[in-house]
Amino acid sequence: MKHSLCVMSAVALLLSATPTWGEIIDPGFPAGPHYTFDSPITWQFRTSWDGLTWSEEEMTSIRNAIDYLGSFFVASPLFVEIPVGDVAIAEDPKVTIRKAGADFFKDWGAAPSKDGRGNIDLDISKAIGFAAKDIFEPPWDPGTYPMGEIYINNTKTFSSSPTAPLPDGAYHLPTVTLHEMQHMLSVNSHAEHRDEVMYESIEPGEIKQLQESDKKLLKDAGYNLKLVPEPGSTAAMLAAGVVALFLYGACFQRRLRACQ
Ligand SMILES: [Zn+2]
Repeated sequence: MKHSLCVMSAVALLLSATPTWGEIIDPGFPAGPHYTFDSPITWQFRTSWDGLTWSEEEMTSIRNAIDYLGSFFVASPLFVEIPVGDVAIAEDPKVTIRKAGADFFKDWGAAPSKDGRGNIDLDISKAIGFAAKDIFEPPWDPGTYPMGEIYINNTKTFSSSPTAPLPDGAYHLPTVTLHEMQHMLSVNSHAEHRDEVMYESIEPGEIKQLQESDKKLLKDAGYNLKLVPEPGSTAAMLAAGVVALFLYGACFQRRLRACQ
């Protein structure tokens, strides 16, 4: 048991040091000016033009992920969901989210940005999700694939489970949603370490929580975030890292003694 704990800890440490890992989530965006949303940020689920809908479980997991993201902001509530069909709210939601298939997730080439920040890479043939930020002229029909929308690749396998382990080969829908929502909130860059939500790639089965570096990207984009880390996020991850280091160190010392 102790030996397996040591092996698991060593593997976890090795993996955390690996510079690239998993499948690319999306191509990201060129660095450039940020366009932050005023709060509240209204959002809504949408059904795709060809009838791809959301299950109750998927919607619940996405709502929880968006509320979790909003909990780090000073503005409260940051996100307000507009129920589908609510005609009492005249304003269109600022962000919409829907599924799309291979008709959207393909190589669209590159599109020049509207503000001269360079070309936007629109080879999204292998992307897991994509935030269609309204910063470029879309090569597609925006009546079919609206801008201001988060797309989730329906050809991939997803799990909405809040806890590991996920089914084999399944990407964590809430984590991918967090990544795309942060792009939509004006975070262009990807993060440097694979435990960060804004890292460029994700492995099937991986569940991520916001790291300090993820929050820094949001602060750099112009948002006011709370100073105190949310319980269960960074502090918990740090504690887990300390335990892993301790176990690895104990294991290493025992191995050294065995060699003497
Ligand atoms: Zn990305």
